[in-house]
Amino acid sequence: MFPLLVNAQQYDWGRPAAKSTVYKLLKSNRGWVKELEPYVELGPIDETRPFAELWVGTHPSLPSFVVQSSLCSLEKFLLEHNICRPDNTWLPESTKSLPFLLKVLSIQKTLSIQAHPDLTLAQKLHRNNPKNYPDENHKPEMAVALTTCEVLYGFRKLEKIVMALQTHEEIRDACGHEAVELFLTQVSVVAGERRHLLLRNLVASLLGQSQEIISSCIFRLLPKMRVSKSSSSNIDDMKYSDLFIRLYEQHGIDSGVILSLFLNFITLEPGEALFIAANEPHAYVSGELVEIMSCSDNVVRAGLTSKHKDVPTLLNMLTFEEADPQNVKFSGKVVENGVVCYTPPVNEFELEFVHLKSSRNFQVKSICVVLCLFGYGKIYCSCQGLKRGSDLLPFKEGSCVCLLENSLCTIENLSSKDLFYCVAHVRHIQDA
Ligand SMILES: [Zn+2]
Repeated sequence: MFPLLVNAQQYDWGRPAAKSTVYKLLKSNRGWVKELEPYVELGPIDETRPFAELWVGTHPSLPSFVVQSSLCSLEKFLLEHNICRPDNTWLPESTKSLPFLLKVLSIQKTLSIQAHPDLTLAQKLHRNNPKNYPDENHKPEMAVALTTCEVLYGFRKLEKIVMALQTHEEIRDACGHEAVELFLTQVSVVAGERRHLLLRNLVASLLGQSQEIISSCIFRLLPKMRVSKSSSSNIDDMKYSDLFIRLYEQHGIDSGVILSLFLNFITLEPGEALFIAANEPHAYVSGELVEIMSCSDNVVRAGLTSKHKDVPTLLNMLTFEEADPQNVKFSGKVVENGVVCYTPPVNEFELEFVHLKSSRNFQVKSICVVLCLFGYGKIYCSCQGLKRGSDLLPFKEGSCVCLLENSLCTIENLSSKDLFYCVAHVRHIQDA
């Protein structure tokens, strides 16, 4: 069992230290590491900047480190010990030892509207533009809410978009009259791929609009949205009006503020999950969540960001399929008492949430990382055959360990409240 030092990204959409679970976990991870190895050197934490993402994994942008008398990057450590799954020939070379990246997100301000390329497109983007597309890997991702979370995901039913266009001339102006006219006259008569093309045409026109027109549309819409936020009889209208106002307040004049009206606005309650497939537009709006993805940082952005936007690539990759908001989120499967398993439709990863009353034994089927989110206890682990790492460690909020295939592990709760932790592991091929 290998204790890990983890790190955090301090993006500007994150939460201030006092309100951030990322900060809380980072700080307690540092304290735990110091307890294990008092002489190890740790850099300072800048508490004046927001805390957005805690990263656990081997991604070169922010790797985790194995805590020994000195720190060793997890990737280097796994390579040196030749720890690599034998049946992972389907993985890109760079992610063979740990194909997933586990994160905790603390969201204060809406993230960019984005999509992730599939494997073929990721390889092409990386070849042509390695600066903006640092990985040759795809990035399917799954989020599980820790608090109530708001997310934009996939396009709304086109009838809803028709309604928005018919209700607000400002949205028609923002999308351009030619595209709007084509959309409104054709939408009820075409099906399948032609429906997708119609939506694509509308979105392309909106994202290609001049800043002057977008600005005028947003300023004319704002007073209407303020009224509808407080007095509309339709709950959907109230929700979207509130969203529009918040996005404007956070991001100013940005076509993404208008685009948000075309996307599903979903609320996840704690424990509910969302799988984000390749080529689907999405943006996290608020809340705190655990996220797991394949080891990649490839993001194609469309709006609500000051970072690199790539609208042509985005328009070419999006499926433009309508998503039913009811079918988008899912609950995990209870696999044993207090253990909920979230299985996405990809091979690289699976996630378990565990609320532990007393103690639990389990065998590690494939390399995994365990991150304690709340509580206090201890963890015992024995590797079969080769003895490596520590056997017994204190296990509390912010503790994080890497466990190897075939080890036997016991986690024990030492407090009166549930011990709450998550386990991220490679999905078993035979289960896939
Ligand atoms: Zn994403």
